Amino acid sequence: MEPYGYNGKILRVDLSSRVITEEAPPPVFYRRYLGGGALSLYYLLNELRPGVDPLGPENVLIFAASAVTGHPAVGFSRYTVAAKSPITGAFGESEAGGWWSPELKSAGFDAVVIKGKADKPVYLWIKNGKAEIRDASHVWGQMTREAQQAIRKELGDEKIRIALIGPGGERLVKYACILNELKHVHGRAGLGAVMGAKNLKAIAVRGEKKMALHAPEKVREIVKEVADIWKTKPSPLGELGTARTIMLLNAAGILPTRNFTTGVFEKAEAISGETMKDTILVGRGSCHGCPIRCKREVKVDEPYKVDPEYGGPEYETLGALGSLCGVGDLKAIAMANQLCGAYGLDTISTGTTIAFAMECFEKGILTTQDTGGIKLEFGNAEAMVAMVEKIGKREGFGDLLAEGVKIAAEKIGKDAGRYAMHVKGLPLPIHEPRGKVGLALAYATSPTGADHIEHPHDPVFETEAGVKLALPLGILEPLSALDLSSKKVRMFVYLQQLYNVFNSIGVCILSIRFLGGPTSITNIVDYTNAVTGWGTSLWELMKVGERHSAMARIFNLREGLSSKDDDLPERFFEPLDQGPLKGKKIDRQEFQKALGTYYGMMGWDKNGVPFESKLEELELEWAKPLIPKKD
Ligand code: SF4
Repeated sequence: MEPYGYNGKILRVDLSSRVITEEAPPPVFYRRYLGGGALSLYYLLNELRPGVDPLGPENVLIFAASAVTGHPAVGFSRYTVAAKSPITGAFGESEAGGWWSPELKSAGFDAVVIKGKADKPVYLWIKNGKAEIRDASHVWGQMTREAQQAIRKELGDEKIRIALIGPGGERLVKYACILNELKHVHGRAGLGAVMGAKNLKAIAVRGEKKMALHAPEKVREIVKEVADIWKTKPSPLGELGTARTIMLLNAAGILPTRNFTTGVFEKAEAISGETMKDTILVGRGSCHGCPIRCKREVKVDEPYKVDPEYGGPEYETLGALGSLCGVGDLKAIAMANQLCGAYGLDTISTGTTIAFAMECFEKGILTTQDTGGIKLEFGNAEAMVAMVEKIGKREGFGDLLAEGVKIAAEKIGKDAGRYAMHVKGLPLPIHEPRGKVGLALAYATSPTGADHIEHPHDPVFETEAGVKLALPLGILEPLSALDLSSKKVRMFVYLQQLYNVFNSIGVCILSIRFLGGPTSITNIVDYTNAVTGWGTSLWELMKVGERHSAMARIFNLREGLSSKDDDLPERFFEPLDQGPLKGKKIDRQEFQKALGTYYGMMGWDKNGVPFESKLEELELEWAKPLIPKKD
């Protein structure tokens, strides 16, 4: 009998031999690995040899929906792309919403596992249980919008959903992204470059299958309950999007500004969600089945031409290309956002890398001779926009910045490394751990490098109201955002595993009550059961989260990473210079102690290596031989 909620089929594509096959893992596989990140890690650990070139044909690229995604439920639209990351050399995963994942499920598959490298540009076309590799020479080199239009026209169906790369991915920019519908982005980890290295421009999907649900009435009831909560209690997330965060963080003195040299930006209001709403916002976008509609759509006519088709800047983009570069020009940020979409670049890494170069320029480490005449000063909006384009083209100084802050700093030499804000090579997202210290653990322990969506940020749990949202996890008391005691580590451990569940089951964190959305943790468990009929529990799902952490850790150990890589840029151990949190810093000793406590709570030894007994408890016996032996 066909399973409820999912297809039970994984598509496998070898681009080198052009052989396409499918496999049908047993139901227990889906229950143990769910989908998304955890499912991807299973394949990567089993099928990717350690030490391979992330941009070589041997890398394995996975697109994974989950056993639960694909039905019109609030926030359940997400999927994962994963591979060995070219920017970190470690496990790379990145999630996006939109419509691609539900369409893949309707097309008859739960995930796509891609190996090899095509001998010329191709795209993959998946329709109603069948797949073919097609020539993409005519769209290679095209911007994402033009390529998407051309593929839709060629296949003769406007409803096709397409995940694709731009020229940035083709030119192997180390932080190239993958987009679907031009607005939903797998930004982090450089997975667009992995796709480019495989000569794979796009994956187009279309399907008409409606999957069987275990309890359709119950599914409808939960979907309605959650949607009704949103209707009666909408948060500013709908009205202002994630851009609402700019003013909140600036008031708290933790809006990363001028490459994290300060947390207060004098032009915050000019780049805020409120200003966007009053000026360039022309619409709000959404993802499959989600009434929240948090996505921005902006239009600018002068001095730049910005089209709403590319959406509009989210918080991270406003911060990265705005405050972090000292840029207070909203139209310039909207233009840079569009360029990132067109070339297929991660806006976070692009902004953090340009901000790094701006600080080097201000310190005299770089001059106009290095930058091709561009005055790369903080606040120079024109220079910021010009650099985005140069990175997308890998032209002039942009070719160096296309490598990311870590490699660029090594090549620049002098003192540049001091200003390279990254963890494990991944440029920092736009959140300041000195004002929410759980984030120090999130940045340091994330297997993919500095990541801000590993857990809800500490201020959520400073109040009884916030703690109420996490009661099912056994988080019972508020904790200060500046607390880094063992209580905070415990909270972090639980929430990090919960977020791994979100990233494996394909639910959007913005739809969760922690961040102002309408979906509770209990809703997720009930919904999973109504879709699949598994009779699962929060406890069982949390074990998937732990399994994800353990597998990612083993992946990175295999690639030569160690506890030494669980660190932060030195700047965070120095005090903030102004604002309400003036003088606050991460205490090095306290941080190291918290890290040790984290390892212990995860069932890892003092070097961050999972104990064999922990792997046995997680049913990962098969992964034990993959842990490198000590000399
Ligand atoms: S909350 Fe926003 S990003 Fe998340 S699913 Fe809804 S519209 Fe998409």
